[in-house]
Amino acid sequence: MPGGEVGGAFARLPAVDRVLRRPDIERCAREHGRELVLEAVRGAIDDLRAALRRGDLESSPDKAEDLVAGTALERVRAAAEPSLRPVLNLTGTVLHTNLGRAELPEVAVEAMAAAARSAMNLELDLATGRRGERDTHVEGWLARLTGAQAATVVNNNAAAVLLVLNTFALDREVPVSRGELIEIGGSFRLPEIMRRAGCRLVEVGTTNRTHLDDFARAIGERTGAVMTVHTSNYVVEGFTAAPDPARLGALARERGVPWIHDLGSGTLVDLERFGLPHEPTPREALANGADLVTFSGDKLLGGPQSGIVAGRADLVSEVRRNPMKRALRVDKLTLAALGALLPLYANPERLVREIPALRRLVRPAAEIRASAERVAAKIGGRFDGRVEVVECASRIGSGALPVDTRPSAGIALRPGAAATGGRSSGGRRGEELAAALRALPLPVVGRIREGALVLDLRCLERDADLLEALAPILRDTPPVGSRGGEAGGNRGYGARSAGRAAGASARPPPR
Ligand SMILES: *Cc1c(COP(=O)(O)O)cnc(C)c1O
Repeated sequence: MPGGEVGGAFARLPAVDRVLRRPDIERCAREHGRELVLEAVRGAIDDLRAALRRGDLESSPDKAEDLVAGTALERVRAAAEPSLRPVLNLTGTVLHTNLGRAELPEVAVEAMAAAARSAMNLELDLATGRRGERDTHVEGWLARLTGAQAATVVNNNAAAVLLVLNTFALDREVPVSRGELIEIGGSFRLPEIMRRAGCRLVEVGTTNRTHLDDFARAIGERTGAVMTVHTSNYVVEGFTAAPDPARLGALARERGVPWIHDLGSGTLVDLERFGLPHEPTPREALANGADLVTFSGDKLLGGPQSGIVAGRADLVSEVRRNPMKRALRVDKLTLAALGALLPLYANPERLVREIPALRRLVRPAAEIRASAERVAAKIGGRFDGRVEVVECASRIGSGALPVDTRPSAGIALRPGAAATGGRSSGGRRGEELAAALRALPLPVVGRIREGALVLDLRCLERDADLLEALAPILRDTPPVGSRGGEAGGNRGYGARSAGRAAGASARPPPR
């Protein structure tokens, strides 16, 4: 290897071939493949060269090869580890879109795993041996639970809306109230979806008031469908009006155009039964005269990502015949999960016991508070800073019931100056602590509130899960009658916040 710009130091860089012949590196190559390991070794040598150039490292030639090998092994490990990993959602938002929304009930998880491992009768009618329709595996239950004649499932609710609009209103007009032209999280904006579906949006009424007459005047020869949208993520309050659903249904029937109602969340049960605010159900919407409803599978339903179209059998058949259905259909895993989830809805008691999304939503604040107190007591003396039990206001999330919060409790972690080497101000320290918790083997995601990191414990079902997750940033030994401070080996998180240290790389158990 030629000497480098800084003379002798670079001559000490180990040769790639030599590193590749080390037993530990050879073993790694047998497991992960030569290409990946070669790339890692080259990267590790580059790292070392850069460190030498910066003068960060004392050049000790004997150590250089070990250093390169160690870095290369760590690089391979990081590359081979899936980037998609379990996290603890302590944000207080139960259905957090960025954290994957609903966590599935165990029966659905098992059904998915079984479907993943095996061939399935996805489109095979076992009775006749003829080709079947994949929707049949869930259609019966969807019909029973919504009162619909028929139902079909696609990739998500955005896909359901796109597909339904494209089926009934390609090159045609769709009247929508100005008060319902929603945007859901950035890329789902109704006017844009309409354009992509090939429909012409006809805005009717005003932002706060739309009347039946507005729709009556807008429906004409070129109308493909009438659309209403549950304004799931905002509220229009005060001087407002919307057409009576039954009369809108009658109007659409009289004019011979389908009425499509996008429900967004679409819970299958009346949430009031569990002390939650009312959220419209598909059954109500269909009973009010909507011809088709669309809703998500992974919001309040508590299932896998999917979008459900339910309603009149003739219209559902038309939706199925749209070639776009083929592009938007769901796989066997999604159908397996839905097929296991939906029967839970037959028994309201099992619902809140077995569907994590609902179980968490109905969890009483007192129970959450008791958990917060237990957790705070256990980590209080082991955390480098202040730990307080605080009130929280959980949200359902995913746009459902946006202004309703559930009283909850959690812990606020306020790092002491020592934890980050005393360099940062209070606000920065909260952010740094948040980053350190995200860097844990099982990342813990909370929220910053007034400079503290707040962990809302609504979604924490076992204290131990959090205590185990936090262990790497807590001091080893709970203090025995000490005032914190020096007790135990200080494993302050500051040193670790740069990334997952090698020692903390064990994969968390699947939850
Ligand atoms: C959430 C939502 C959608 C989009 O559903 P995804 O399942 O996220 O695709 C569409 N419409 C409404 C009213 C919603 O609340």
